[in-house]
Order: sequence, then C-alpha cells, then structure tokens
Amino acid sequence: MLPRAETYGELIRDFRWDIPARLNMAAQVCDDWAARAPDRVAIIDMTGAERRTVSYGRSRQMADGLAHELVASGVKRGDRVGVLRSQSPWTAAAHIACWKLGAISIPLFKLFGVEALITRLEDAGVELVVADPDGTEGLTEWLKGAGRQALVPETCDLSDARFETADTGSEDPAVLIYTSGTTGAPKGALHGHRVLTGHLPGVEVSHDFLGQQGDCLWTPADWAWIGGLFDVLMPGLALGVPVVAARMDKFTVAECRRIVDVAGVRNVFFPPTALRMLKAEDAAISGLRSVASGGEPLGAEMLDWGRRAFGLRINEFYGQTECNMVASSCGALFSPKPGCLGKPAPGFEIAVLDGDGNPFDGEGDIAIRKGAASMMLEYWNRPEATAEKFVGDWMLTGDRGTWDGDFLRFVGREDDVITSAGYRIGPSEIEDGLLKHPAVATVGVVGKPDPLRTEIVKAYVVLKPGYEPSEALAKELQDFAKARVAKHSYPREIAFLDALPMTVTGKVIRKELKRRAAEEIAHD
Ligand code: ATP
Ligand code: MG
Repeated sequence: MLPRAETYGELIRDFRWDIPARLNMAAQVCDDWAARAPDRVAIIDMTGAERRTVSYGRSRQMADGLAHELVASGVKRGDRVGVLRSQSPWTAAAHIACWKLGAISIPLFKLFGVEALITRLEDAGVELVVADPDGTEGLTEWLKGAGRQALVPETCDLSDARFETADTGSEDPAVLIYTSGTTGAPKGALHGHRVLTGHLPGVEVSHDFLGQQGDCLWTPADWAWIGGLFDVLMPGLALGVPVVAARMDKFTVAECRRIVDVAGVRNVFFPPTALRMLKAEDAAISGLRSVASGGEPLGAEMLDWGRRAFGLRINEFYGQTECNMVASSCGALFSPKPGCLGKPAPGFEIAVLDGDGNPFDGEGDIAIRKGAASMMLEYWNRPEATAEKFVGDWMLTGDRGTWDGDFLRFVGREDDVITSAGYRIGPSEIEDGLLKHPAVATVGVVGKPDPLRTEIVKAYVVLKPGYEPSEALAKELQDFAKARVAKHSYPREIAFLDALPMTVTGKVIRKELKRRAAEEIAHD
C-alpha cells in the first residue's frame, strides 16, 4: 500500500516498482489474506435477496475447489478459460482458480451477443468456459461443435481439498482482456501476473488513498471489463478493502442508492456513462468518501456537478486495456485541472511524442515508458499490432494530448482528431462546451469530410426531455460553442439524434458517427 503523502512530489519521489520475480495474483488477492486473516470480509454479496459476506477463508475454499474442478476437466497451465459471468463471489473465484493453476482467465461480458462471444472465444482458443447458472444458451451449439465444455460452479460438487497455487513468474501470462472495440475490432491484451501490482498505485490515488478505515469499494461497471476487474475487484481484494458484488440489470438512481446504503459503500468507480445518468436526474448520493471515473472524457461540467452531488471531487483517471491506471487526479493532494487527466500515477513515466517518436512539449501521441507494471505483455496472436504498439522505449497509446510536466491533457483519440482548415481539433473540448448548454443531454463531435476545409466539425446532439430539435436551436448551440469554446472549432453542422451509438461498456462510438457523417455527403 502507498504511504500516505502530503504532496504529489512526496508521493512519487521514492516510489519504485517492487515486483518479485515469482508472483501469482491468486496469492495476492486470496491465499495471503486467507492465511493471515481468514475471517476478514473479502466480498459483500448483494446479488441475492439478502446482503451476505464472503470471507477470505471462504474465498480460498471456493477458488481451491474450482481449481481442482478445472484440472479434472482437463485445463492445464497456459490454457485459456473464459469467465462468462456477471458479478458474484463465484466470478471472482473463477479468475482466482485459473491463476492458481497457471491458466489464463478471459473476462467475457454477458451482454455480448453470440457473434461477439464466439469471435473472442475462437481468437483466444479457449479450453473451457466458466458460466453463470442461467446458462449459455446462445453458445450451446458452438461449445458442442468446438468440443468445449461449460462449467457452472454453483452446480458442481466441489472438493474441500486445498489446491496449491502454482509457482509462476511475474511475467507469466495470467489474463487476456479484450479492448472495448471503440475504434475497430477488439484486440486481446495479454497481461502477466504483475498486472495487478501495476494497477494498485493508480487505484489507491484515484480513491484518495484507498484502504482507509471503513473503506468499501463498488462499481456498477461489469467485472468483465478491465475497469471492473482491475480497477475495482482485484485491487480491493489485494488491499483488504471489501468489494461489493451487485448486479444492475438497469442502472437506476434508486438501485444505486440502495446498494450504497445497504452494502455500506464508501468508494465508487462510476464510469462516465453512469455519471451521465446520475447527472441527468441531478441525483445526489451521500455517504461516499471517494469517487473515481475514467475510460472516456469526463469534462469540466461533470466535475463541477460531482462536487455538488457527492460533496467531493471526482478523481478522473486515464488508462487503456493495454496499460491501465497510468494517470489520475487525486483530490486529497491537488486540485484537478479542468480538461486534464491528472498527473502520472506513481511508477509511470509519460511523454508526448512528435512525428519522429521523440518526446517534445507540443501536442502529439501520448506514450508510456516501457517497464510500467500494468503494461501488457503483447497483443494475443497479433505480432504486427504488438510491433506497432511498442516503439523504442515507449508504448504508444494511440491517444493525442499534451504533457507540460505538470498535467496530462487529453485531446482525442488519434483517429478522432479533426483536421479543419489547417487546425487540429480535439472533439472532447467541443463536446464538453456543448454539454454546458441546458438543452444538451449528450453529444458526439466528429469530422465530416469537406472539399474546402478537409473536414468540418459536426456535432450530433441528443436533447434533454422538453427540448425539440429546430434550426433556431441548432443556431443557438453554434453561437454557444463559438462563445464558449473557440471560433475556429465551432460545429458548422449540427444534427439531432434520439441516441448516440454506444459500445456495451457505454462509450460513444465516434467511428459510427463518422461513417454517418461521410454518408451524409452523398446526400448533401
Ligand atoms: P479499442 O482499443 O478496441 O478501440 P478502447 O480504446 O475504447 O477500444 P479501452 O482500452 O477500454 O478500449 O479504452 C481505453 C481508451 O479510452 C483510451 O485509449 C482513451 O482513448 C480512452 N480513455 C480512457 N480514459 C480516459 C479519460 N479519462 N479521458 C478520455 N479518454 C479516456
Ligand atoms: Mg484502444
């Protein structure tokens, strides 16, 4: 755990990664605590009618039983095992069981359609799928055809025998996580056992030093996403902070408040999409000690609202499936700078590279120095993509931004930056500006090809209830953006939509909006 610092300088000054050569995440999140404090609460289970707790001792028993079962089912070291389950203590046990025997777990989202699942299962070459009791209907045929089985822990008669955790190296593969697929086909990021250690500093900082007396961690995000699995579940277990397992078929303010109250949640990771839903209803939530968010631009407007709604600063963090928890704000140490992603987390060195791959102080590619513990080993089965990702001493994020040695600013994804009349324009700043207008619920800004200006800025706007699309409103929004953001980057075109295209993780798919904008040209 990080020592409690008084300033950011103090926080990073003496930090060094301390990664033992032999490391297994199952020991970090389960065995070590079970040996030291078997009765300590690991998971608060809110998935049933009643609140129940699972201790580290019980957690080890579950993982051990499941590990024996996996071995009996033919799973060997290095094999890939899909974990197609929503939040529950058994879901945590499934990952831990895989790591115990040296297998590679693959978090899989239950909201994925059959096609999306099969793509990932085939790409990863999974040996077995650990499933929820409600089954894998859509996959039955595929499993049969591929000669693969599904295992449901709840229905197994598991052994009580101890399972000795495999002796693994910190660089041995442990988990394969697919990227969100926001910009293209999802890629599998293969991580070693050090990945959890690599998340801890950023997670602790983004919760204003997670691990205080009474802390209790929850996220409405699914554990099948890196944000759920490695920003919440596994760090909580490793740090001895109880983690809440709850399912929300639909995110509602009432359910959110119930979980916080009944489980005693003090620390939340709200993905931006959840914050947007809370903000749309101006829903305050009390009793929290820290709120972290990341995965998409949050915007200054949201930070302002957060102070009122939670009575604290939302700490925005930045990272990606390939290397996560790279930078974060930390309200306990410094004021966030609007439009910025915070400062590098302890252990991460950030640079912005120019076109030749050299660090400079302008706007360019955000890169992370190799050696950070949460950095992936490689893309699964994609040597060319891996080679493009790592250049010299750096891992390229594919995001554009600036780094002045003080704050990291995010401009946009490389593919999303708009080139208009010689200017390079990041969509997030314009979106953030438009969101301040009372009529705007959500907005996606993209470049629309234009013969004169290369691209023009086009905004797709979803209005709040009570507002009707009109030319007058479009004009008003344009003037608003001109006054609030910049004259050169105001949206020359505005279109109103009922909803924006979203990934299952709730990210705006700008690629779809761009395709739409390009298609419009044919009809203009
Ligand atoms: P794919 O790589 O498949 O296109 P993806 O990049 O959305 O999908 P993730 O790894 O889940 O998949 O997301 C990481 C990306 O999310 C980052 O590279 C960055 O573009 C964006 N992101 C993360 N945190 C923030 C943040 N705080 N502000 C703005 N963007 C962010
Ligand atoms: Mg990406």
